[in-house]
Amino acid sequence: MAYREPAGEGSSGRVDLHAHTIFSDGLFTPEELVAEAARLKLTAVAITDHDAVGGIDRAVAAGRQFQLEVVPGAELSCNTNGVDVHVLAYYIDYTQPAALEFFEMVRQKRAERAEKMVSKLNELGVNLSIEQVRALARGAATGRPHVAQALVEAGAVRTIEEAFQRYIGYDGPAYFPKMQLTPKAAMDFIHQHGGVAVVAHPGTYHNDGAVYAAIAAGADGIEVWHPDHTSRSVDRYREMAIKNRLLMTGGSDCHGGRKLGRVYLGSVTVPYSCLQAVKNLREKRLKG
Ligand code: AMP
Ligand code: ZN
Ligand code: FE
Ligand code: FE
Repeated sequence: MAYREPAGEGSSGRVDLHAHTIFSDGLFTPEELVAEAARLKLTAVAITDHDAVGGIDRAVAAGRQFQLEVVPGAELSCNTNGVDVHVLAYYIDYTQPAALEFFEMVRQKRAERAEKMVSKLNELGVNLSIEQVRALARGAATGRPHVAQALVEAGAVRTIEEAFQRYIGYDGPAYFPKMQLTPKAAMDFIHQHGGVAVVAHPGTYHNDGAVYAAIAAGADGIEVWHPDHTSRSVDRYREMAIKNRLLMTGGSDCHGGRKLGRVYLGSVTVPYSCLQAVKNLREKRLKG
């Protein structure tokens, strides 16, 4: 394996702090995800759907049934100097109307963006309708993986990977950017709603300027352990976290098989102490 996980088991076991469900571009329902985490004997799993919190309550209910701690989260997309940076938002008070309004607005923007990408594909001579994408997304925060799968099902490409390579990757002819949220706006939103902000998979941007921008904007932590991180990235971001006195987290970024056909859940875990540190910061802020 390319990455290295932090050692340590302790009495509280291991946790996966990054996973997607059908409420964004994952394939597991919240219940399936929690059941799988329980089968893997994890002690906690975080639900971190892209720009969506709709799956959290169902996951928490399933967690009670399986005696597994469910960490409420979301993965927000922001953009700095043309680079997409993902920020994990743990423990935001997602039931507040202002928070729900924000997620609804982003969901709407994502739906419009999917339409733009389909138009671009049509201009390129690809036969695909927005209805085909909508049928797959089923009201979820629509992302490129939905467009990619629709392209596979329409026979325009053979694999999801090919869809990204030929059409909707960042440099692809049918790519259309997401709503432009600055790192500062993302961090402020998370903090205003009581959450802890962690820069997701920093090694995947190949642009540490963007990572530093997210840190400067107020990130509380860095996701050090991730399937797309080489051991060199792990070392680098571990050091960056220590130098900047930031929390360190990790997780599988499980999409239930929609990403390269791999399920991933539990493929990257961290000791419970990493989650405890996130919880401690949250508690401290609540008291302060
Ligand atoms: P979006 O937020 O709509 O821009 O979609 C980003 C998501 O697409 C990522 O979180 C991944 O799940 C997925 N993704 C990005 N690049 C690829 C790729 N080359 N192959 C498969 N999935 C990808
Ligand atoms: Zn995704
Ligand atoms: Fe991400
Ligand atoms: Fe993710």
